[in-house]
Amino acid sequence: FTKKLLGQKRSGHLVCPVEEIDNHLHATFCDIMRHLNLGPCRELVAPPEPDTQFNSTEPTLKEVEETVRAARSSSAPGPSGIPSTVYKQCPKLLRRLWKFMKSIHDVLPSPANQHTWGLADTPECKLCQKRGTLEHIFSSCSKVLGEGRYRWRHNQVLKALADSICTAIQYSKTQAVPQKAITFVKAGQKAQYHRPSSQGELLSTARDWQFQVDV
Ligand SMILES: [Zn+2]
Repeated sequence: FTKKLLGQKRSGHLVCPVEEIDNHLHATFCDIMRHLNLGPCRELVAPPEPDTQFNSTEPTLKEVEETVRAARSSSAPGPSGIPSTVYKQCPKLLRRLWKFMKSIHDVLPSPANQHTWGLADTPECKLCQKRGTLEHIFSSCSKVLGEGRYRWRHNQVLKALADSICTAIQYSKTQAVPQKAITFVKAGQKAQYHRPSSQGELLSTARDWQFQVDV
């Protein structure tokens, strides 16, 4: 059908006068009642106004903390592969995650935002004088890249992890290593399954942990 409609050769000469075409188009497409106010349409459904305002503001640190606290330790991690336990054990890291969440809503005090909020005279990046948007501050400032500040920020995340692991190791050294006992099962009896505790499982198995980091 499309081939029949559009595939044919399109050429020829228009023989009618312009006035005739104008009149035809006017008669076909003109709405003489277009200026008439038709009033509200009674067919439209008018739902009542919602009495609870939808909260579209960025999450607060407290909300993020409560959500992470409520997450099950055994639940599978998301696409990042980082289980919620990491955020439960590292409050500093959780705070960093929260800041990244704020960045999604673009409500961090970047120079461009501060300028919009009337808190700064200029939206420029103080280091390179380009426009200091969030994207620029986080990953696009050539001066920051040249000075190795992005690497420093990356290492701060590693440092937060290292601090938490160090604290956990110090704590594990004060605890007694649990005796490994084999639970024998008598003939005819069934073995009882003991769910392993998820808290400090690995670190509690020894007291001579050594942890080396270079950040
Ligand atoms: Zn810059």
